[in-house]
Amino acid sequence: MNPGVFPIFQSRADHAPQAPFLRLEDGTVLSYAAALDRTARIANLFRSRGVQPGDRIAIQAEKSAEALLTYLAALRIGAVYLPLNTAYTPAEVRYFLGDARPALFLHRPEDEAAMAALCAELGVPERLTLDADGRGTLAEGADAQSPQSEVWQANADDLAAILYTSGTTGRSKGAMLTHGNLASNAATLADYWRFTASDVLLHALPIFHTHGLFVATNTTIMAGSAIQLLPRFDLRKILQALPDATVMMGVPTFYTRLLSDPAFTRDLVSHLRLFVSGSAPLSAETHKEFSARTGHAILERYGMTETNMNTSNPYDGDRVAGTVGCPLPGVELKITDPETGTEVAQGDVGMIEVRGPNIFQGYWEQPEKTREELRENGFFITGDLGMIDARGYVSIVGRAKDLIICGGYNVYPAEVEALLDAIPGIAESAVIGVPHADMGEGIVAVVQARDPALDEAGILAALAGQLARFKQPRRVVFLPELPRNTMGKIQKKQLREQFARLFHPENA
Ligand code: ATP
Ligand code: MG
Repeated sequence: MNPGVFPIFQSRADHAPQAPFLRLEDGTVLSYAAALDRTARIANLFRSRGVQPGDRIAIQAEKSAEALLTYLAALRIGAVYLPLNTAYTPAEVRYFLGDARPALFLHRPEDEAAMAALCAELGVPERLTLDADGRGTLAEGADAQSPQSEVWQANADDLAAILYTSGTTGRSKGAMLTHGNLASNAATLADYWRFTASDVLLHALPIFHTHGLFVATNTTIMAGSAIQLLPRFDLRKILQALPDATVMMGVPTFYTRLLSDPAFTRDLVSHLRLFVSGSAPLSAETHKEFSARTGHAILERYGMTETNMNTSNPYDGDRVAGTVGCPLPGVELKITDPETGTEVAQGDVGMIEVRGPNIFQGYWEQPEKTREELRENGFFITGDLGMIDARGYVSIVGRAKDLIICGGYNVYPAEVEALLDAIPGIAESAVIGVPHADMGEGIVAVVQARDPALDEAGILAALAGQLARFKQPRRVVFLPELPRNTMGKIQKKQLREQFARLFHPENA
């Protein structure tokens, strides 16, 4: 049986104490043994603040070694880790703290006054202020040996973390994940992507999200590999760090930004063995351009806060652009009719449902929402529409909430976006439906142009021969940049609000 992420981390430190775990920007290397020692000290500090197994520890912190170690320290003592997006304002943090009621809250020094007031107001019993530069003062002065920091023997179904979803389609929901959820997925991924102790993962993702916290970190720990920790995606620093890495994980915008720099060359990355992309769709153009430039086929995979990872393109076989690969070992995936819940014919579009040891336990204190999305038979209704081809590759055609119903016809934005993105001069596009008196929804193409000469009429003419009439956008609008969150997800909800009155008579 898989003993969980923390026990594996501990056994890595016992068996190869000097193996590097974290390589930091300033050249410092933290070995597995040193990192384990720090988790004991931090755990001890948490316990001395009254944290008990099962209590929640919330944290809003800039990315640093110290912040990452608080995750392992929480697992160590059986506390439930609850990281918050660094972009949240104190007003937003109020909602999450009120919802989650942590026993301890760790926050940034610049938020001292606001967070002290919030904790007093909401009755959060304890808080700790982190260092401005993440140097690691939490571990300083705390005892590593005290029985307080003893490792909690967690069961597979004990809660390990509550992770809030990105809030792309509505208010963020707290997904409850167990030690078993985290460990099973990490073991699968380490094996599937062939991680070994000699790997160095270039890690520039945020650590408040499932991608950077679980997919990247847990997978590394499972294999005893090292993490090259960069606080964020900074093109210059990535280019400097690539020579030391063997694997890179990123969101699609990382790859488009790399491609925009002529210094990103085949020579620079010829020694890497794997580039992984997820969290948002990777365009076929980027996939193609990347392999032409570097000789590497980016491996695209599909996951979410509630399930960790569902599918992956193969390590050895064909990595098919525009697909997210096949269900991972142990994960069952089916495509169902959103109305009836029955499976659709192979090749047809429907709701993606998944089941497996990776699936969360429900939404924190939202039993009704949990019942709506998590079936009694264990299948989770992802909210993503997709299909499976004859070889078992899954393609995502978009979110059910982004589906446009125009004059009674279903229009999948991804199909229109793929054609728009192939038009020379278009950098990227987002296709949305907004209220329209006759059609129910009218189709709008929101475009970021590379070529200033591009206009609405030209784009509509380019699409005309390629799409059925009912799928044609009625309007094309231009923005200097499409709104994205920190994970590179286009914020369609925001675009729908911005253009909600486009077909209103006053604008006609
Ligand atoms: P919320 O659930 O609050 O609306 P969210 O779904 O964006 O936010 P996450 O759990 O961070 O929150 O994101 C998971 C979603 O990201 C998936 O449901 C899917 O829509 C999208 N996604 C992840 N990987 C891919 C991928 N490779 N291709 C396309 N979409 C992806
Ligand atoms: Mg979601």
